[in-house]
Amino acid sequence: MPHDCPVRLYSNARLWSGQPASAGMPATQPPPVGAIAEQAGRIVALGGPEALQRRFPDAEVHDLDGRLVTPGLIDCHTHLVHEGNRADEIERRLAGESYQDIARSGGGIRATVTATRAASTSQLIASALPRLDALLADGLTTIEIKSGYGLDLATEVRMLQAARALAAVRHVTVVTSYLGAHVLPQEHANDATGYVERVCADYLPAIVAGGWADAFDAYGDALAFSPAQIERMFAAARTLGLPVKLHADQFSDQGGAALAARHGALSADHLEYTDAAGVTALAAAGTVAVLLPGAFHFLREPQRPPVAALRAAGVPMAVATDCNPGTSPLASLLVAMNLAAIDFGLSVEECLLGVTSVAARALGRQHDCGTLGVGLRCDLAVWNVARPAELVLGLGLKPLHCRIWQGRPEPAKSTG
Ligand SMILES: [Zn+2]
Repeated sequence: MPHDCPVRLYSNARLWSGQPASAGMPATQPPPVGAIAEQAGRIVALGGPEALQRRFPDAEVHDLDGRLVTPGLIDCHTHLVHEGNRADEIERRLAGESYQDIARSGGGIRATVTATRAASTSQLIASALPRLDALLADGLTTIEIKSGYGLDLATEVRMLQAARALAAVRHVTVVTSYLGAHVLPQEHANDATGYVERVCADYLPAIVAGGWADAFDAYGDALAFSPAQIERMFAAARTLGLPVKLHADQFSDQGGAALAARHGALSADHLEYTDAAGVTALAAAGTVAVLLPGAFHFLREPQRPPVAALRAAGVPMAVATDCNPGTSPLASLLVAMNLAAIDFGLSVEECLLGVTSVAARALGRQHDCGTLGVGLRCDLAVWNVARPAELVLGLGLKPLHCRIWQGRPEPAKSTG
């Protein structure tokens, strides 16, 4: 780090670190006042405001007026980049059709595939930006974005390129996942084996060679891919050095959690129907459970994920939006936290850890972001509240004062 790089001091702030409360400080209480020193985009010191001002007398001081500061929020599961609109599906679902019925009649994911294949990279970027801006307005600094609406190689690469390009037009870190196993593309409707072989032999090597993805993702479901097919693709991805993750057990118990654990997956996501053996396997593997209360809410699902069992087994739980055009058109991590608390029974602290340090772990980035720690990126969210619990309590209250991405402050009004 260059010694002449200026130091910024974010002072007079109530610091919630992104770590579980070690000193018994409940999230309903304002954390103690402290300061953060930043240099070259990284946190270089944490401590009392006076001590840090003595240590860095030439620092540019930003007085945060006693506001709450948390790590910048991390959305570890989104389908942000896509084209098309599925507004008609809500009418059909409200009239009683199930998501599975809609998908079988050509709607659902396949409807988005048709629209996305017809879109250029610049169209994909333009249509994703309003969704990204909505997330940024709630304090986001890192986002995972999946492909999976192309399913042919050219469109999948275009989606991943569009996702990466968003980081050039907004102050945000983008992590990408190649969701080659989302559904079977129409041209392989009766040839699942052929498609799986193509993913393993052609698409995955091309995606890895191009450096387009940080992980491989799959959708394990009766309407998507069988456990054996996913095993085959996971093995191919891991041979190429790509970490894996899985949409697991959303509509039925497919043994998805245990499958993800067997492959050392970064995360297993959804988990509504995961059984006790699946929970035990996740705990043993250290795989993160990513809970997606938006999809549960929009689909009016009857079964909640096994939160009490996950908690008892010590499985880390993340919370994400699953932002997508059909089953979770949700672009707010604050709302996702509220739903996780009210509908899934997570505690305030579990919700907050789920969009900070545990979300970072779900992306394999826990050494880079997700907590307030020396050496980590200075990604912060500054809030017009004093107590962490207030971030989980409300809906639509817009408490963000400003975002700080890699040390650079950006007022809330310019991100909305
Ligand atoms: Zn998803």
